[in-house]
Amino acid sequence: MKTYSDAVQTPVMGHPEGLFFLFFTEMWERFSYYGMRSLLVLFLVTTTAKGGWGWDRADALNLYGSYTFWVYVTSIVGGYLADRVLGARRAVVIGSLIISAGHLCLAMDKPAFFYAGLALLVAGTGLFKPNMSTIVGQLYGKNDNVKRDAAYTLFYMGVNAGAFFGMALCGYIGEKISWSYGFGLAGFFMILGGFQFYFAQGVFGRIGAVLNIRPAGFAGAQEDHAHVVRDRLIAIGVFSVFTIFFWMAFEQAGGSMTIFAKDYTDRSLAGSSALIFKIVNTLLLVVPTMVLTLVLSVLSRSTIKRYPLSNLFLVSSFVLIWGLLIWMLGREFSTDETEIPASWFGILNSFFIIILAPAFSSVWQNYWKPSGPIKFATGLMLLGLGFGVLAFGTMGIPSGAKTASVSMVWLVLAYLFHTMGELCISPVGLSYISKLAPDRLLGMMFGVWFIMTAIANKLAGMSGSMIDTFSATYSLSTFFLVFTFLPFLVALLLIALNKWMLGKMHGVF
Ligand code: GLN
Repeated sequence: MKTYSDAVQTPVMGHPEGLFFLFFTEMWERFSYYGMRSLLVLFLVTTTAKGGWGWDRADALNLYGSYTFWVYVTSIVGGYLADRVLGARRAVVIGSLIISAGHLCLAMDKPAFFYAGLALLVAGTGLFKPNMSTIVGQLYGKNDNVKRDAAYTLFYMGVNAGAFFGMALCGYIGEKISWSYGFGLAGFFMILGGFQFYFAQGVFGRIGAVLNIRPAGFAGAQEDHAHVVRDRLIAIGVFSVFTIFFWMAFEQAGGSMTIFAKDYTDRSLAGSSALIFKIVNTLLLVVPTMVLTLVLSVLSRSTIKRYPLSNLFLVSSFVLIWGLLIWMLGREFSTDETEIPASWFGILNSFFIIILAPAFSSVWQNYWKPSGPIKFATGLMLLGLGFGVLAFGTMGIPSGAKTASVSMVWLVLAYLFHTMGELCISPVGLSYISKLAPDRLLGMMFGVWFIMTAIANKLAGMSGSMIDTFSATYSLSTFFLVFTFLPFLVALLLIALNKWMLGKMHGVF
């Protein structure tokens, strides 16, 4: 078997090549997760005549909340199983197969299969998600913190590249062609991604192969004093708990913000604005795809001889993505109908991440080096600001209105602020866990991190489902105002805790 150092001898763009295999594997998993998620609420609330289930909004948002709760809650089990029984890599492979089966079930378009599909997605994602993040951190030496931060930012771009294509393609195909095809497409790319990972495993050497066996001197391999370990676990706990408030508001994206896009935003375009949208949309889709294809070609050039099968799956998936994009854009240019799909706005978040992540990474490295808690607080405030923009934009909508037609600019700006907030919290948080957690608990600590996302998603669904009651009693603007103030308050609390947190982190910055 290869040793760790054998495995990382060919750096790609300054990082171990394993990082890029992880990047693309995570990309296809997130493609399936977000692709399906962008359709879930819309499918449920669409009338049966149009192929949906005709549910009312509150029920749909509650199912959305429960699904996104369970899909993340199982991370703790997935992390534990990887730490104790399977090893991270096997967990990832099994997880990807289960996820693919889940999507296949959704595509059957029968209620029993639909629920079975959701259950499989829950189980598969629990095995997959925390353990991918574990492997990323293990690629770096324990003193290689700057590189590791950069690696998590890159990895996070992979997360969002997947979310981006998933929402763009599954969202489009689901809404405009058939719900089943949309759900099915999500699963198809997961199959390709799973095989691509499976056949590239040699690149990881011993990392993640069996029960967290890592050479001394690499991330997490150090054993600190018991009290240091305990304090750092407390710090992970505090960071994680604060993320509940972030994700609870942020994850309105797939729920109440999607409803807002669908029923309260003017999405119809005519004349020259329609043409401008088509051009912007084309650039929005084509430019990131070109960048990713370039990354893929650099990776392939260096690894194709050693991992031909993995490369075959990877390259095939990109050929398919290009084919689908060209078909979709061609179809859009040839129709006069120009209503922006409600799910389209979701891709802005991922697009902004892909564009802004390198800038944020460079700010942290070169210009402003705040502590973790301050970064988190900044993220919360930016998120609040985004909802402030929505509250402002919806001020004119009367209480109880079920539809309206406000400018889409508010939604675009909100997503921009939300994304900037996310960049201060999410990749930063992953990196902190990999630095703070002891070796033997790494998978489980990522599980803890994602459990908070689970709770937050449930709360997001629950609070989102109050959109109608809230706007009938007060107004839609007040609904968004709640999500403006809450993150600000929590951010202030975190700033107050900064010193105490630094003590608990014992020198990890
Ligand atoms: N968008 C990120 C992902 O899907 C963040 C998930 C989370 O922790 N809430 O990986």
